[in-house]
Order: sequence, then structure tokens, then C-alpha cells
Amino acid sequence: MRKPGAKARIREFFLANIGVIVNSIQVRDAAGVSVSEWARRLRELRGNDHWPILSHHDRADLKPGQYVLMESPPDKPAVSFTRPISAKLRAEVLDRNGFTCQMCGKCPGEIDPETGRKVRLHIGHVKDKSLGGKDELSNLRALCSTCNQGAKNITGEKPTAIWLLSQVRRCGQDEQRAVYDWLRTKFGQ
Ligand SMILES: [Zn+2]
Repeated sequence: MRKPGAKARIREFFLANIGVIVNSIQVRDAAGVSVSEWARRLRELRGNDHWPILSHHDRADLKPGQYVLMESPPDKPAVSFTRPISAKLRAEVLDRNGFTCQMCGKCPGEIDPETGRKVRLHIGHVKDKSLGGKDELSNLRALCSTCNQGAKNITGEKPTAIWLLSQVRRCGQDEQRAVYDWLRTKFGQ
């Protein structure tokens, strides 16, 4: 018979002993569960809930029957398994977006002033997956690491031509010259 609350007691016991090696007898006594139930709960905690509980299979210094919760477990169990976006779809998104971050306009190889590192592009969702956005071409866009990290649940509006021109007018001649050079390489004379 499964006692109500056994899982909660097991969780509580491990949370009170983060980083401490415990054995199955202690778990059994603390949670009042049978060895077979404890084995089932352990599979649940490690599998569905992603708790980093190690056993002698994972760490050489642990004996059979010894366990250790390595660190605070994740707040929420993972909602669903996300399938990675296929290489073909990634290539389509990057190509369509001209290998340019769709929020800040940086290209791979440029130095990101935020991080001082070379820009790397990722595939981001226009509508976040947590809001029901799908892994479809129409919902995907190229984003640099910096924008991708800040982009969760935010839909970045594309800048309008009027806004862009106003920005170009505001900036100095050197910047305007750089824009002109870039447009020429992109569109020709
Ligand atoms: Zn960016």
C-alpha cells in the first residue's frame, strides 16, 4: 500500500540533506516507505522530476544503497520533452534572415559589445514555446546569444523604414558612410 505523502517526505528528507551521503535505511525510516516503494520513488525523482540524486552507479565513492542529492533540484519538473529543431529548418531560418540577428542586427563574427565575444546566431521563437509557439519556419528567427537570452516571451518588432531612416539621420557621418558601404555591398551600386 502506498502511504499518502510518502513522496513529499522523501523530498523533504533529501532537501534537508543536500550534499550529504544518505543510505536507503535512513530514507526508509525518514519517509516510512518500503524498499520497493523507495526504489520506485527514486526513479520518479531522477527521471520525471530531474532531481540530481546520485547512487553508486554514478559515483565511485558511493556504496550500493548510498545516495546523495547533489544540489537543489529544479523548481519545476520539465513540462515536455523538446525535440531539437532540424538542421534543415535551422538552415532555412538563417538563410531567410540573412544570417543576421533579427533583434539587434549583428552578424556572426562581429564582436558583441555586451559580451566582448564573437556573435553567434541561435534559432529563437517569435512566440515562445511556453505560450504555444511552434517549431515552424514562420515562428522561428535568427537571434544572437545576447538577444536570445533576453528574448524570452518578448516579441521583437521589426524596425520600420521610417524609424531606421530617423536613426541614420541622427548618427554621425562615419556611421552613415558605414551604412552606405554596407548597403552597396548588399544591393550593388
Ligand atoms: Zn542580437
